[in-house]
Amino acid sequence: MKVTILAHTPEPEKVVAAAARLCYSKTSASKLLENFSQEKAASFIKKLMDMGHMSPTEHVSFTFAIDGVSRTLLAQITRHRIASYSVQSLRYNNPFDKEISSSVESDDIKPEDISYLEGFALSCQLTGQTAVNQDLIDKYNIKGLMPQEIENLHKPSFFRGIFDSAGLISDDLKYPLAFPLELKSVFDTVNFNFTHKGDKLLIENTSEFGIFIYENMDFAQSLFDEEKLISFCEKDKALFKQISSDMQAFIDTKYYAMTPESIAKSPKALLTYIKGLEACKKSYIDLVRMGIDQEDARYILPHGTQTRIVMTMNVRSLYNFFNLRCCERAQTEIRQLANLMLAEVKKIAPGLFETAGAPCETLGYCPEGELSCGKYPPYSN
Ligand SMILES: Cc1cc2nc3c(=O)[nH]c(=O)nc-3n(C[C@H](O)[C@H](O)[C@H](O)COP(=O)(O)OP(=O)(O)OC[C@H]3O[C@@H](n4cnc5c(N)ncnc54)[C@H](O)[C@@H]3O)c2cc1C
Repeated sequence: MKVTILAHTPEPEKVVAAAARLCYSKTSASKLLENFSQEKAASFIKKLMDMGHMSPTEHVSFTFAIDGVSRTLLAQITRHRIASYSVQSLRYNNPFDKEISSSVESDDIKPEDISYLEGFALSCQLTGQTAVNQDLIDKYNIKGLMPQEIENLHKPSFFRGIFDSAGLISDDLKYPLAFPLELKSVFDTVNFNFTHKGDKLLIENTSEFGIFIYENMDFAQSLFDEEKLISFCEKDKALFKQISSDMQAFIDTKYYAMTPESIAKSPKALLTYIKGLEACKKSYIDLVRMGIDQEDARYILPHGTQTRIVMTMNVRSLYNFFNLRCCERAQTEIRQLANLMLAEVKKIAPGLFETAGAPCETLGYCPEGELSCGKYPPYSN
């Protein structure tokens, strides 16, 4: 999410002060504007705000460029009627142009997936397990080769195959990730530090190993064991921090979508979200390819799809907007946007926005009653 102020009424504080002073003066507003110093304007504005004399603030407006927000946010923000909006259209801007015009993908397996299956099959052979994906191993004539024997080896995928087949995640605080000792010859071919304990190989830096095996992975299409990824992330917070950030970048690039904060906090929720996005994107591309107009195909795209907005609001309306949307009760994305916008306008007109924000910040109590977030005590008579 990015907020840029494109334009605003020049000398905003002086304009508001001059308009307000005009009400009580015989002089013209232009003369009053000339005579106001910045300090005098600021102290006059403070009096206005204390009195609740807000109409002079309507003479000053700000125009914001808002990039990287969801269409859910678009629906919320445009409920604020005292404003002007221009919105990037999905009718004319197709986020999946390249995929639609590129030739239809073949069913050929990717070299990374061959490496994954080789790792999986090798680990099963060495440990005497049965492969859960034997059908794929047979279909692609996977032999269970050692890494040095594989042409075009994709090491991260190969070791992801080993991990999915034989990795053991435990509650051991020092060594949460172990492999059967039978795999030592395979681990000898890479630079991961490990140690032995009984019949186990213990990985010294689990986060580093995890980041390596999931590096640049296509979370929608690559071969990987979801449950294993989830339990690995639950055990290793440093790994999850990196994976969550990788998944959000993946969602941004591959689906042109936003990731809500609550979803970004859970590996299972992120994977579920990606599945939904993938299904929507696939149907959208199929519809456009069969000749359906973009303006109709877009019905299948999710609310999380990104957009860009240009919005102009006057200061009075901004006060109302900040009042409603900086409050903890507002939904996270629009609250983040409101707080970013408030920080930007404060840089330009600190006096004008001194008391703007969630109502509790100026009142010193919460007017939300039972719905209070608890930051301030609720109002009591
Ligand atoms: C936490 C939260 C939850 C919400 N949940 C819902 C929901 O579940 N469903 C839903 O529909 N909306 C919901 N909203 C949106 C909300 O009802 C408002 O539509 C939105 O916040 C815009 O506020 P506004 O009308 O004050 O702003 P604006 O439209 O910018 O209006 C500014 C002010 O102008 C005046 N005004 C504007 N138009 C009129 C008019 N026609 N008549 C009289 N006075 C007018 C009012 O004083 C108004 O406060 C929610 C908002 C918040 C913050």
